[in-house]
Amino acid sequence: MVKKSLCGLTADEILDLIEPLGYNRAHAVSISNSIYKKAVSDISYIEKIPIRLKEELLSIALSGIYLPLASEVSADKSVKYLFRTENGKEFETVYIPDNKRNTVCVSTQSGCRMGCLFCITARYGFRGNLTAGEIVNQILAIPQAAKVTHVVFMGMGEPMDNLENVLKACSIITAEWGLSISSRNVTVSTVGIMPGVDQFLQKTDCNLTLSLYSPFSEERKKMIPMENKYPVQKIVDMMKNFPVKKKRRLSLAYVMVKDLNDTDWHLEGLKSILKGSKIRINLLHYHPDWNDQNYSSSAERMQFFKHNLIVSGISASIRKSRGTDISAACGLLAIR
Ligand code: SF4
Repeated sequence: MVKKSLCGLTADEILDLIEPLGYNRAHAVSISNSIYKKAVSDISYIEKIPIRLKEELLSIALSGIYLPLASEVSADKSVKYLFRTENGKEFETVYIPDNKRNTVCVSTQSGCRMGCLFCITARYGFRGNLTAGEIVNQILAIPQAAKVTHVVFMGMGEPMDNLENVLKACSIITAEWGLSISSRNVTVSTVGIMPGVDQFLQKTDCNLTLSLYSPFSEERKKMIPMENKYPVQKIVDMMKNFPVKKKRRLSLAYVMVKDLNDTDWHLEGLKSILKGSKIRINLLHYHPDWNDQNYSSSAERMQFFKHNLIVSGISASIRKSRGTDISAACGLLAIR
């Protein structure tokens, strides 16, 4: 019999597992507290449940919490972790400390099949989806787990290509019986698979960021193949028209590449696409691979974009690059 992984189950699913054995919701909550709040990796150490329940659980379930295989520390104190699932899928996770804000960047797939040209993960290929438990374990199993305040789904993979597991992971991360991290501190990034974006907006309160690259469809198509199926203007319109709850953030991520997408024409395109909306824009440094001919836009150019967007009434910021020396920055995760 294949044992069930407790990490990745909702409180209701834990109850479904133990109710037929004669146990109740209080026991299910004790189990979820031990897994999600204390990261108990051995069922025998689950607190506040009868010994008989532990014995029964041991025969049908695993905690589902497992440690990373390796880690690498950046000069800026970010840490990249390598995980491997039981069936051999590998993926990376990055811990990013920044004063009181400690973020974990999780992967949702081993590799990715979206084929974005500016992203090194795309070259690693696609090795499979991660389960909700494998996504949540990336937060629980790192040594800094107790300090985590924010979670971003910006590691390997396209979250909307593994939507069911991503939605479940979001609900575990934000639930009181789960990790109890506010949905305001959880952000999921996408290249814009429209049906997935639509469901994501409706089914969670977590933040969403759309990876843009270019405000112009023809140009975006060359970098992000998904643009051929779901044009950027339609996705941005969907985001603009969605009735967003207070404090939920919808944003665009704009990777800036010198001379390619940082011209005045692109700036005007960004203003036009965002006109009349509350969507904010994050300007990101481009992180080239060693054999790349392209470079990130200069700090001055990025400031120029930021200033002009803000003057036009668009909320804009520049995201600090972290972990570049250990290939842990945006777009560089590729199991090296
Ligand atoms: S940018 Fe995101 S969606 Fe595109 S290939 Fe990289 S990981 Fe996949």
